[in-house]
Amino acid sequence: MEQATKWVIGNWKMHGTLAANYELIANIRALIPTLDDRVGMAVCPPFPYLVQVAGLLEGSGIALGAQNLSANVRGAYTGDVAGAMLRECSAQLVLIGHSECRAYQHEDDELIARKVRAALDVGLVPVICVGETRAERESQQTQTILARQLDAVFQLLDTAADSCIIAYEPRWAIGTGVSATPETIAEVHGFLRSCLIAKDAKFAASTPILYGGSLAAGNAREIAAIDNVDGGLIGSAALRAEEFATVYRAFLGV
Ligand code: PEP
Repeated sequence: MEQATKWVIGNWKMHGTLAANYELIANIRALIPTLDDRVGMAVCPPFPYLVQVAGLLEGSGIALGAQNLSANVRGAYTGDVAGAMLRECSAQLVLIGHSECRAYQHEDDELIARKVRAALDVGLVPVICVGETRAERESQQTQTILARQLDAVFQLLDTAADSCIIAYEPRWAIGTGVSATPETIAEVHGFLRSCLIAKDAKFAASTPILYGGSLAAGNAREIAAIDNVDGGLIGSAALRAEEFATVYRAFLGV
């Protein structure tokens, strides 16, 4: 997949129906008939809708993403979905390490790193989600937590060859309607960029760092203007075409 320098990615979580998906994609396509090369757009529907949504996206340039994958290639893993299956359903990206998976499915750093490797091995671009809890922030552990989450992934990454997207998603800002402040976002994204540079300067320059957590039409312009913010991972606002299109336009600067 061609890597855009910025990305606006919709995480539909466990929402959607065949009819609602049809309407949502039709409305997004009507609002943004042509994508700009500088800002990629992707949607990540639940697994059962990947094939349907792939069809609805045909000719739009909008990329298809999945919300998770197995760290394993195939086998007796009931309920899991392999990366190759996602590729066969036309997925190009996959969210990995989303805070809801870390929290509810108890995914740890080591498993997340293996999932990133599994995604890369089949040609999926991993959208690696990192973020701290409110308690971790309040006890000044944000940088330690983020560095630990990134380091685990770095262990299995070949930065000379692998193409990734990072998403900073403070857990306390997800689904709350209260995003991180511009000052916090600037500070954390600067820190994440410095971690990437310390690993590999070339990789750091080509890896978009997205912000996620109550990013919507109302705050998109302000967030898009922050240094080292290369797009957004959008939850609830991605289910409303008008709002999702507004966020896209904000990252385009129009
Ligand atoms: C998310 O789930 O990735 C997310 C950012 O959610 P929301 O935009 O609803 O906070």
